[in-house]
Amino acid sequence: MDRLFRALDAAPPPRRGGPGPYAAYGVALACIAATFGVRLALDPWLGNGVIFLSFVPTLLVTALVGGATPTFVATFAALIAGEALLPHPVDAVPNSVDAALFAGLGVAIGLGGGRLRRVQAGSEAMSRRVFERQAHLQSILDTVPDAMIVIDTEGIIQSFSPAAEQLFGWTRDEVLGRNVNLLMPAEHAEAHDSYIQRYLRTGEARIIGCPRAVEARAKTGAGVPVQLYVGETDTAGAHFFTGFLQDLTERQASQRRLQAMQAELLHTSRLSALGEMAAALAHELNQPLSAISNYLTGGRRLLQDENPESRALTALDKAAGQSLRAGEIIRRLRTFIATGENEAACESLKALIEEAATLGLVGVRDAGITVVTRWDSEADLVWVDRIQIQQVVVNLLRNAVEAMETSPMRVLTVSTAAGGTSTERGGEDMVEVQVADTGPGIAPEVADRLFQPFTTTKPRRGMGVGLSICRTIIEGHGGRIWVEPNSPCGAVFRFTVPRCAPGLEAPAPAETSGVGP
Ligand code: ADP
Repeated sequence: MDRLFRALDAAPPPRRGGPGPYAAYGVALACIAATFGVRLALDPWLGNGVIFLSFVPTLLVTALVGGATPTFVATFAALIAGEALLPHPVDAVPNSVDAALFAGLGVAIGLGGGRLRRVQAGSEAMSRRVFERQAHLQSILDTVPDAMIVIDTEGIIQSFSPAAEQLFGWTRDEVLGRNVNLLMPAEHAEAHDSYIQRYLRTGEARIIGCPRAVEARAKTGAGVPVQLYVGETDTAGAHFFTGFLQDLTERQASQRRLQAMQAELLHTSRLSALGEMAAALAHELNQPLSAISNYLTGGRRLLQDENPESRALTALDKAAGQSLRAGEIIRRLRTFIATGENEAACESLKALIEEAATLGLVGVRDAGITVVTRWDSEADLVWVDRIQIQQVVVNLLRNAVEAMETSPMRVLTVSTAAGGTSTERGGEDMVEVQVADTGPGIAPEVADRLFQPFTTTKPRRGMGVGLSICRTIIEGHGGRIWVEPNSPCGAVFRFTVPRCAPGLEAPAPAETSGVGP
């Protein structure tokens, strides 16, 4: 693998086609001329010997440089040059035999050279193809978003991808050749080498092939949560382990955000439920308290007529005072709930609903529900308390999902649209949100008191306060909430909230009738 990666880093094999065919002819002629000159100079000593033989190196060079055809041409040219070197009287027969042998040798060298060049060209093309494939593979690995680290059986890092550099803050050059345990927290770093050795000895895999979430250590020493996948390979007789690491930081952060949001919504919803209950109790207790007060006043009058000095009069006075006090507490409680201030701000309705939908629509895919959204980008910014409106949306979504539990057709449509003008709020522009389902529609027995507390058709799991909380929140924002039949079946819940446009003031606290009945 080391070799492989070194090869990948190396420059591509040069294209060695050698000099072209014409260059080979030039080389051949130059060699023949040079040989001719040298042989001529040595003529006094060599006489008629070693004439054709002296041209053999020329043929070899030409065959190497140009292959078969230039070698045949060079053989022919060498024969002419050889004949020219024979001024001495010679025996024609041996000379012809020498020439014929030389010509045969020339053909053999030419054929051999041609074959050699073909093999050489083939092997160069193959190494180029191998290199290109390796470079392609490397470029893919370099762009894989997961960090990739290759180690050998000693735990020594052999390869470190650009994504790994980004994840750990180390550069490739800094970590290559070092033990991979420098990327682990201390408790694993020490034992890591023994994990590898145990695996090699026993073949018992603990992490290979089983992705798991672990903590890695960045160059800064900070812990990095990652999902680790480990695979193994055998390359060139050596064993390597490849780790792919996915950064979980963002995923964990969004999980934490989601949990915090869930907790916040749950908290608000409990508070609202309490408020609803308190308001309902206040309403119910108001009448008996007034009656108690009236009876006490009447009783006191009767007693005073018969026995003006009775100590019971004082007790009756105190009891009447306490019942008035209880009434005042209840009145204050109702006022507090009715005018409870919200933390309104300019919010994107689409973002707000999408965030709420991550909670409200948990598991809807499994329930076979198709969710359709239609956003009116012209009516997106609204002046609302984000958490409260999200609570309304979650409640409407959950009701819609529950209503479609047994429906053959399951389509949930959430849409926004410019929603007219609120006359109650001084002509302020409103935005309308619609949550439509294809369930059975509103049951007739609850239709006329749907938004009152404790109205429910879900005997076991319903508290019947969800819609009344929605109404309180929406009216607190100066909007309106109502329901209509959907077509062809189901219900459409609609509510309005004030649009947030440049120049619009924050809505004043609503002058509503308060919570509950
Ligand atoms: P809960 O869900 O606890 O019953 P809600 O106030 O949210 O309390 O709802 C009151 C009732 O309104 C429900 O019990 C149900 O009968 C009816 N309801 C609400 N939403 C829908 C809907 N989308 N389709 C049909 N009925 C609905």
